[in-house]
Amino acid sequence: MNELYAWQDELWQRWIGLRARLPHAILLKGPQGIGKLDFAMNLARSLLCKKSSGNNLACQDCISCHWFEQGTHPDFRLLLSGTQSIEMQQSSETQASLTLKNCSKRIAEEAFEEQQKKGKKPSKEISIHQVRSLANFINLSTHQGGHRVVLIYPAEAMNTNAANALLKTLEEPSERMLIILVSHKPQQLLPTIVSRCLTLTAPMPSLEASSTWLQQQNYANPVTMLTRAGFAPLLAARLAEEAIGESEYNFFLQEIKQPAQFDVFTLAEQLQRIEPIHVIHWLQQWCYDLSSIKLTGKVRYHPHLFDLIKNLSNNIPMFNLLHYQNELIVAKREALHPLNPKLLFESILLSYRHIMLKTDI
Ligand SMILES: [Zn+2]
Repeated sequence: MNELYAWQDELWQRWIGLRARLPHAILLKGPQGIGKLDFAMNLARSLLCKKSSGNNLACQDCISCHWFEQGTHPDFRLLLSGTQSIEMQQSSETQASLTLKNCSKRIAEEAFEEQQKKGKKPSKEISIHQVRSLANFINLSTHQGGHRVVLIYPAEAMNTNAANALLKTLEEPSERMLIILVSHKPQQLLPTIVSRCLTLTAPMPSLEASSTWLQQQNYANPVTMLTRAGFAPLLAARLAEEAIGESEYNFFLQEIKQPAQFDVFTLAEQLQRIEPIHVIHWLQQWCYDLSSIKLTGKVRYHPHLFDLIKNLSNNIPMFNLLHYQNELIVAKREALHPLNPKLLFESILLSYRHIMLKTDI
């Protein structure tokens, strides 16, 4: 059974070409929600597999594949941030491969339980302790006499100390050891780490490939879902799965498209159930379209509102839009730990109304 996403075939061929002269480290980069982690898991499992099937995918039958599926492979380590562990625990049936998910989920659960035992809040970082815990694994000889694989996801979650510890490992590579860094934001990685990795760019699927995949997962409105998720199919599925407020999103859109009338405080109240990061994302997409129509005459995320966006954008100076977009970038950084989400919403929505109504900002 081929477990790759349809849009990853070419990348898989590239990987097959690399197997004969395996690099010590691979950086797999690309936007969030396009199946990078599944690809990396496939890569790791195929390298550890004892038999390997057609197209060099893992056989799913040997002892190594069995261990991998159970999340107990002695020659494989997966490092995740605490928040990522929780996200994986909460995701259910949208990923293409249940096997991969069982494995990652089990490891995620263990990481989560470990943190709970220590009475700590889940961290969004990958710590130096996690990277140091690899030392024994790296120095021991391999259990199966084959390769050992470490997968770090997402690599940008490593804090500075963790990244420096990893750098030491990369500088003194062990034989038959592959470290896979998966990153949505490679620009946040230390350049010295990136330079020691062979970089693979995960392809963004076409709209057609993404829609087909979502239809196969029994979603009825793939294009609408995709426009809300920046055209990333797995992210679209996750957002739908988490039921990230269909009704809140519609209400949000209904309100912000009439900046002269909407009530900032009512909207902020309504949005409270939604993670701030998602609301900021919606606003960013909305502003992207307002800017884009001014600069290129096109919209990306809200094609059904083309005329309305065109009219609205006519009245806003580009400078104000840019200013507001910068404000959203700052808000996004703060949104992971907002003291009071409602206040945060009020603040960004008030600014939005200010720029739209050309009052001072
Ligand atoms: Zn196998």
